[in-house]
Amino acid sequence: MALSSEPVRNGVLNRWRTLGLTGKGEILEGLRADFVMGPEDMPDDPEDTEAGKDLPDEVMQQLCDNLNLLEEMSSIEVRVCTELLIDTGRRPDEVCQLPLDCIERDPDGSPVLLYDNHKAFRLGRRLPIAKVTAAVITAQQERVRRRFPDAPSSELKLLPSPVANPWGTKPIAGIWEQHRNWVRALPDFLVPIEVEVDGEIVTKLLPFDKGKIFPYAYRHSFAQRHADAGVKPEVLKDLMDHRQLQTSQAYYRIGQDRRREAIDRVAVMQFDRHGKRVWRQVQGLLESEHVRREIGEVATAYGVCREPSNVAAGGHSCPLRFRCLGCEHFHTDVSYLPDLEAYHADLLRSREKLMSAFEADDWARAEAMPSQEEIRRVRRLINRVKADLDDLTAEEQAQIQQAVSVIRCGRSVMLGMPRIGQPLPDVRPRRTS
Ligand code: SF4
Repeated sequence: MALSSEPVRNGVLNRWRTLGLTGKGEILEGLRADFVMGPEDMPDDPEDTEAGKDLPDEVMQQLCDNLNLLEEMSSIEVRVCTELLIDTGRRPDEVCQLPLDCIERDPDGSPVLLYDNHKAFRLGRRLPIAKVTAAVITAQQERVRRRFPDAPSSELKLLPSPVANPWGTKPIAGIWEQHRNWVRALPDFLVPIEVEVDGEIVTKLLPFDKGKIFPYAYRHSFAQRHADAGVKPEVLKDLMDHRQLQTSQAYYRIGQDRRREAIDRVAVMQFDRHGKRVWRQVQGLLESEHVRREIGEVATAYGVCREPSNVAAGGHSCPLRFRCLGCEHFHTDVSYLPDLEAYHADLLRSREKLMSAFEADDWARAEAMPSQEEIRRVRRLINRVKADLDDLTAEEQAQIQQAVSVIRCGRSVMLGMPRIGQPLPDVRPRRTS
């Protein structure tokens, strides 16, 4: 029985009272006459929310890389619908039914998607979206206006059906069939999977089951990406537009587990400041090591610091003025490789700029100038990490890459999205087309 709207909920309560179910000895004896049910008392409608149905990163990436093919095989509306499912994690019918004017701006100018949660009868919902997602919507709005120049905007759909739709008021019916044909037409999605060979667990690149790639899976993937990025359960609940924390909470627990697994994986590729591998066994970190990682170190720009006084000060009391590459308390691992490369490029840029006609006193210029030794150390560290990565098999590399993306997700650059109370990480899958 659907109990989502308030009149229905309290109508049912009244009916139970009329039937005498609250009388003495009856099943609802003791139910107070002034008891009513609010939205927060209702469980979310059953939803396909079991965790673990998200799509692996490799699969998401391959799908995003082939959106052009989806457009060729179906239509621009189906492509835009799929992009919005991926980026916003809304249910397929919520995206198909979007009105043309479905974007608003927060006071700081950040775009917000306006949509209706039909499943829970919650209309006018607001979801912060990335600017690139807003751009996908804006381009589609322009196409629709060109197609229906005389129709009032308020009656148009963002994704109008291509057939029997002279006024643009009928949305596309769904994308299931086109989506399935597209997925079938794509080459195998190879993902690292653990299998048992001769009694040993090994990782192999095996084809992912295409039957698991369906439009609703993007909602799972959206939740999982945010959970992996450390988004708090209350925020995840708001993002998923669930009434109850428990409905969304499973994703967070899984997120923690996945993060731990990922940390275990990259722990085998740790390096000290000289680029010397700090070797450890593959079987995973001890519980105490995980705890130490949480309380006994602080992040630096391209690794971690374990210097006690700096850790105690939350990373704001470095006695060496953050010359980590010359400090014995510094450690890094393979997940920081992009940061090391960015730092190296930054040092070279700074050096070049300071050597040009940049106006500054000599002492300031000399102190700010990156030393050749520092540049050499970063380069050496990068080369060592890369060389060790190259020594791995293709499967091991895929496994490490997967772990790195989970860990880096938690370190994502934050975007200001004040509407739901805290900055959200930008975890939108990368597009190449
Ligand atoms: S220089 Fe040493 S003490 Fe300072 S932040 Fe880096 S690792 Fe920590």
